[in-house]
This record gives sequence, C-alpha cells and structure tokens, in this order.
Amino acid sequence: MAKKEFPYTGFTSLAIHAGHEQDPNYAHLTPIYASSTFVYDTAEQGMRRFSKQEEGYIYSRWGNPTFTEAEKKIAAMECFGVTDAGGRPLVTKALLHASGMAAITTLFLSNLKAGDKILSHYSLYGGSQEMMDKILPGLGIEAVIVDLRDLNKAEAALKADPQIKMMYLETPANPTVQCVDIEELTKLAKQYGKIVACDNTFATPYLQQPFRFGVDFIIHSTTKFLNGHGTAVGGVFIGRDIEFMNTRAAKTYQLLGGNSNPFDAFLLINGMRTLEVRMERHCHNATEIANYLEGHAAVSKVNYTGLPSHPDFYISSKQMRHPGAIMSIELKGGLQAGVKMMDRLQLCTRTVSLGTCDTLLCHPASMTHYGVPKEQRERYGITDGLIRMSIGMENVQDILIDLEQSLKGL
Ligand SMILES: *Cc1c(COP(=O)(O)O)cnc(C)c1O
Repeated sequence: MAKKEFPYTGFTSLAIHAGHEQDPNYAHLTPIYASSTFVYDTAEQGMRRFSKQEEGYIYSRWGNPTFTEAEKKIAAMECFGVTDAGGRPLVTKALLHASGMAAITTLFLSNLKAGDKILSHYSLYGGSQEMMDKILPGLGIEAVIVDLRDLNKAEAALKADPQIKMMYLETPANPTVQCVDIEELTKLAKQYGKIVACDNTFATPYLQQPFRFGVDFIIHSTTKFLNGHGTAVGGVFIGRDIEFMNTRAAKTYQLLGGNSNPFDAFLLINGMRTLEVRMERHCHNATEIANYLEGHAAVSKVNYTGLPSHPDFYISSKQMRHPGAIMSIELKGGLQAGVKMMDRLQLCTRTVSLGTCDTLLCHPASMTHYGVPKEQRERYGITDGLIRMSIGMENVQDILIDLEQSLKGL
C-alpha cells in the first residue's frame, strides 16, 4: 500500500522524505525494528506470506522495516532525475547489507558462476582487489585487469575474452581517486552484451549517478559519506532489473546472510537525509584546501581530480557534479616528513576511512601499507610521503590553520 511519492524537485527534499512510511503507532521517525522474526494472525496468513501471495516481513535476514526505509531512500537518490529507456522515471531496488564488502559479495555471487570473468581497472579498493585475487579464483571466477582509462584496451579485452561477463568499475577509485569514463565504458560493454556494475562510494549519488549512463548495478560502502558520521559499517547493492533483484539477487542475499541490522539502518537513514547539505560543505572545503596545498613549498604533488593538473580532470568534470572531498598529497620530505606531519596534527584526525564530519588524514607508508615492500606499494602510487585526506566539514579556515602548522618547515 505504498503511497504515491511526491514529485520532488530537489535532491534534499527527496533525501529527507523518500522511502518513509507512516508508522502504525505514529512515531515521527521509523523505529529501530529490533525483531528477528515477524508474526502471523493465522496459519493461513503465514502460508500466504511464505508463498508471496501477501506482502509482509518474515525474518530479518530477508528484510526488516527499518532496512526498507534506508533501501528505498538510497534507491530513490540514485534515480533522482534519471529516466529509463522509455523516458519514464527510473525505478530501482536496493538490498541493505552489513558492509560494502557484503554488498559486493552478493553482487558477484548473484551474477557470476565458475568460468565467468570480471573485467576491471587496476586501481580498486583494496578489499575488492583482494576478493578478486584470493576468493573468486577458488570459485572459478577470474578477473581481467587492464587500464580502463584506455578505451582501446578495454575493447581489446572484451574482444579477446568472451568469458568476461561483467565490467566492474570504481570511480573515483580508493585511494588513488583515478576516474574511468562510465558512459563510454558502459556503451562499450553493452555492445558486447556485458553486465556493468559501479562502486559509487567516493562520489555518492549526489555527485554522480551511474544509472544515468546505463549501468546495471551500483554498490556502495554506506560506511563512508552516506552514513556520514562514522557510526556504522554498511553497504548497499542496487539494481535496475527489478525482476532479477526480487529473484536471483534476493535469494543470494537471503542465503549469504550479509544483511544489515536495524540499528545501523536507522543511523544510515538519518545520515542520508543530510547528504546534499554535507557534501556541499565537504566539497567547498576540498576545493579551497586543494588550491592551498598546490602552492605549498613542502608539497610536491596534489592528487585531486578537481585540479586541471590531474590527468582525470576531464572525465571527473564530465560525469560528476563536483570532484568530491578525497585527495592525497605527496610531501617532498618523504617518510620522515609524513610521520612528522601526522604527529603534529591538532584539529584533523589521524585515522583511516573517510566521509565523516571531521577531516581525516592517514599516512599509508607508516599505517595501512607499513608491511608492504616499498617497490610494491609504489606500483600502486603509494609513495613514502603520500598523505591521504578526507576533507571534513569544519570551518575551512581552521583546517587550513592546522595544515599550515603541521606542514611548517617540512
Ligand atoms: C570502504 C570501501 C569499500 C568497502 O566497504 P566496507 O563498508 O568497509 O565493507 C568498498 N569500496 C570502496 C570504494 C570503499 O571506499
């Protein structure tokens, strides 16, 4: 008995209201439905629920009212202003997961079987890369990795290998912020009859909507900007083929058991309502900080796609509303300078992850990649003096003061 959705003209109106249903007890916010199972009035009703003659919740591994609001909200945000092939507003379906990695697992295992291959780019989130290196080969699924910024290489791979079933994009990529052209790659994949999936975590649906370019599936780590406050790990898997999402994808989701939980879903709903407002501030601050750092004497390079000096400046401006709030810098002073800068921070937070209200800095050479041999990490662009930054929502002058004092004399 879904009520007709208001024809939202603005992203935030939709982000606040979409997916919300009136609570039967008139609670303003959708409650945290902390219940593993749901009851039936009669045995006959139980039968109707299990046979899908009647809609209704059964068991929280399969679905839960608090998940539903989060799922409908994110699906609506990814479709805001996007139309289907017939010019009608696009409708998609989302499944809320325990983590971004759980969502990626459901994506892969619902679409791929032994003998299939994935075509992807070499710069990917570490977990996704490890999944392709260490888990999928055991199931007979291999990854073909090429530089997808080169469309000729992408086409050559598709031509050479008919076993490729899915093209998997992540743009901007974690942590390099490399971008690939969603529109051109999707066109190419479709010419060869392939499925396209896109990890939209870094951009969020406010900055980039891959469904606009015809991709089949979107996944997110909701842990980052969508939650926005660093309070819960989560993920979402969204698809435009509703029939597939309700059958093969739903079955895979139910059986893998990678579902979210009502408390995390509640935190996510409230985070997502302010996505546009937060992203505007994150992005505004990021632009100022990138410009400041580009001229700094201690910095040899700023990796930010919003700067014309970045090789992916054109692709990022073509498909994103704004290049976002993640960047990295390389310090002229290498490892020593990196450690010193991190130790001197007073306002910004020393940690991994991204997308929270506060500005987060990490120094991969002394932290996440400490155990990785230098030559190996440098192949991924992780040099001794690389600092990754997730620009927060503090007043920008305070972030600048902290960066200034921590970079002094390096
Ligand atoms: C963090 C991240 C993931 C993994 O998500 P988790 O919620 O940590 O499981 C996947 N892709 C990207 C781009 C990420 O940043």
